[in-house]
Amino acid sequence: MGKMDRSYCPKNKGEKMRKKPRIYVLKLNRKKLLLFGLVILLILIMIFLKNSKVSKIFSYRNKETIVIDPGHGGIDGGTSDKEGLLEKDINLDVSLKLKKELLVEGYEVVMTRERDESLEHRSNINSSRYRKDLNARKTIINESEPLAFVSMHVNSSKKIEARGIKIYYFPTSIEGKRLAECIAKSVDINVYNKFLKDNNLRAEILPEDYFVLRETKYPGVLVEIGFITNPEENKLLQDEEYRAKVAFAVKKGIIEYLGK
Ligand SMILES: [Zn+2]
Repeated sequence: MGKMDRSYCPKNKGEKMRKKPRIYVLKLNRKKLLLFGLVILLILIMIFLKNSKVSKIFSYRNKETIVIDPGHGGIDGGTSDKEGLLEKDINLDVSLKLKKELLVEGYEVVMTRERDESLEHRSNINSSRYRKDLNARKTIINESEPLAFVSMHVNSSKKIEARGIKIYYFPTSIEGKRLAECIAKSVDINVYNKFLKDNNLRAEILPEDYFVLRETKYPGVLVEIGFITNPEENKLLQDEEYRAKVAFAVKKGIIEYLGK
């Protein structure tokens, strides 16, 4: 009753009348706030799903990825000869040829670099430029979750007669060794027998504790596609056809390894 009485008091009534629209606005705001909150929540859920393993399983399940890692790049030329031929350029060219070969076969290809650059800017570890570059390569390989990866390099030696394609695997990696064997067999057939018509040359497989092989969780090898210091191979390394044959042979080896 007291309340009713008060409602007849003009002062109180006036207050009530002023309050009413305020309450109405507040209610509307609550609804809007709730809607706004829901929208934000939905956006957050979408962002979470996009980055989570769940969506990876849905969108990449059928992707069969191979990572190609062209050694060196940018400030780091790798090995070289007196004429200014740089390892980094040969590595990239053969790697791009290998990429094309693998794309034709329907694989997803991830390259650690596709142009003349070093990769230290893609690593946030507190270390030397060289270590940062290697760390970035390792991260790209591991995050791509590939079926296999290949790191491409060119060899050099004080002995001018040293030559041949060498394929390195991590000493304790059974899968790495198997991949190396498959690529070596393919090089013998496709590069040495068919292309160079030389039955005496043989690709060699060797265990080696290289960072990129040790620090990665997927089967991989490091391929040295010839000696820049050997006059014959120096010429071959500059030959388009040889580069294409090496890329083709590495692809065939990977396919053999994957059992296809
Ligand atoms: Zn190298």
